[in-house]
Amino acid sequence: MNGKEHSGISLIIMILYGLFLGLINKTDLIWACVGVYLGGILPDILEPPLDYTHRQYFHSWEFLKRLGILLPITFVLSIFFQWMLFVFLIIIGYIAHLLADSTTKMGLPRVQRKGRWNK
Ligand SMILES: [Zn+2]
Repeated sequence: MNGKEHSGISLIIMILYGLFLGLINKTDLIWACVGVYLGGILPDILEPPLDYTHRQYFHSWEFLKRLGILLPITFVLSIFFQWMLFVFLIIIGYIAHLLADSTTKMGLPRVQRKGRWNK
């Protein structure tokens, strides 16, 4: 997956999210797009795709599982702290990136193991 594909997936998710929540406020939608976009590019900032072994811990099923636990927590916290909604959206974008990467031939490693591919 290249950056354009990840950005496109993030954008589609954001539009669906906006439609789902009925976000008609432009400011909310723009901030939501920014959050999902940042989340969508974050994995490749943490582990730049320089070669086929770039997918380590931050691209792993283990990290995805932790994000899956964090996602509902940040959503509940966003009820009390509005800025947490931004964190929630970043996690949505991050998860979308990992799920998109998981559909590629290389897939995602289960966990990081000494810099070696571990599927
Ligand atoms: Zn990636």
